[in-house]
Amino acid sequence: MTVSNSASGRPHRRESVAVDVGGVIVGGPAPVIVQSMTNTDTADIDGTVAQVAALARAGSELVRITVDRDEAAKAVPHIKEKLLKRGVKVPLVGDFHYIGHKLLGDNPAAAEALDKYRINPGNVGFKDKKDKQFGAIIETALRHSKPVRIGVNWGSLDQELLTHLMDENARSPEPRDARDVMHEAIVQSALMSATRAEELGLGADRIILSAKVSSVQDLVSVYTMLAARCRYALHLGLTEAGMGSKGIVASSAALGLLLQQGIGDTIRVSLTPEPNGDRTLEVQVAQEILQTMGFRAFVPVVAACPGCGRTTSTVFQELAREVQDMIRDRMPEWKTRYPGVETLNLAVMGCIVNGPGESKHADVGISLPGTGESPAAPVFIDGQKAMTLRGPNIAAEFRAIVEDYIERKYGVRSRRDVAE
Ligand code: SF4
Repeated sequence: MTVSNSASGRPHRRESVAVDVGGVIVGGPAPVIVQSMTNTDTADIDGTVAQVAALARAGSELVRITVDRDEAAKAVPHIKEKLLKRGVKVPLVGDFHYIGHKLLGDNPAAAEALDKYRINPGNVGFKDKKDKQFGAIIETALRHSKPVRIGVNWGSLDQELLTHLMDENARSPEPRDARDVMHEAIVQSALMSATRAEELGLGADRIILSAKVSSVQDLVSVYTMLAARCRYALHLGLTEAGMGSKGIVASSAALGLLLQQGIGDTIRVSLTPEPNGDRTLEVQVAQEILQTMGFRAFVPVVAACPGCGRTTSTVFQELAREVQDMIRDRMPEWKTRYPGVETLNLAVMGCIVNGPGESKHADVGISLPGTGESPAAPVFIDGQKAMTLRGPNIAAEFRAIVEDYIERKYGVRSRRDVAE
């Protein structure tokens, strides 16, 4: 597929219909939105509030919660209220399976508190109940003016549709590969459900589609087909991506390939957390994918060389880590005090080979001494050598230099904005 790039070097985004999800715009000209999902029991109000708040603080712009039973549905308005009391305004998406029609019908307060409903056409109901239950959910969405994500998942694909397409394919004089038929079934399931929702009165500006599979190549095929056949806003995500680096790499590859084709209005990175692991990692990875690809800026970027035989001490790795941690810790405060700070570029380099050159390209950069070099670390600010750090406190001094630079550059900007 040929992709034309804009003057910024980023690919042109596919045109999609914008959807307002509780004040956050998904699709149209809006930037690609980062979302995440809790793994708490939604009936545990305090636990869910804490995790939603943590995900929002990490930068999640939409948070999905499971609504699987009556206790969970009853908890939703309390969760919303507690979040608002804490100043957390992130829109909440309710994830419904099998009995969504009943939970939404029986719990109008939950239907109202949620900002979007996510339903899966493969398990919204079976046989003759399917249309009725799907219709009931759409009617609830219309009554409460909420958008709906129609999320097909190949693990729960509409079996009637798949069987029908497989039979049709078997009768064809030139049968296609079974995998292609499965892709077609996923795409058709999403599009047919969206058409049905529109027939029931839900506008395209209230519909978001997703079609999740767990293999990178399948995901790219399915979304490429989907993007070519509709203008609905698209939610991207590789389902069951896995744990640790495997999940991160698979998600980055899949989402990167699609985003580079201009496909995708909102993304979620579905990582399996380590036991008691930090759920916010999925937000961090999603942001890093978008920032690395030049779509959005969320946090200052730290360019760090990989280190090599010239860096025999751990000072260089420790400083790179300390600067990275400082950014993550300080970003929530910086974001409010220093508008634009997310575009800051820092460099932490290991020796004289590329250190000064790379540091000069950063807003603030430091070139640490490699093995055999004199124990001095030149610091470059806005491309000019500004000072040289020596001794045991290089890390603390460099952090102070960064904080001072941010205050001077972005603090001035925010003071000017207030004055204007
Ligand atoms: S900048 Fe120096 S320490 Fe870093 S990778 Fe290059 S040669 Fe190695």
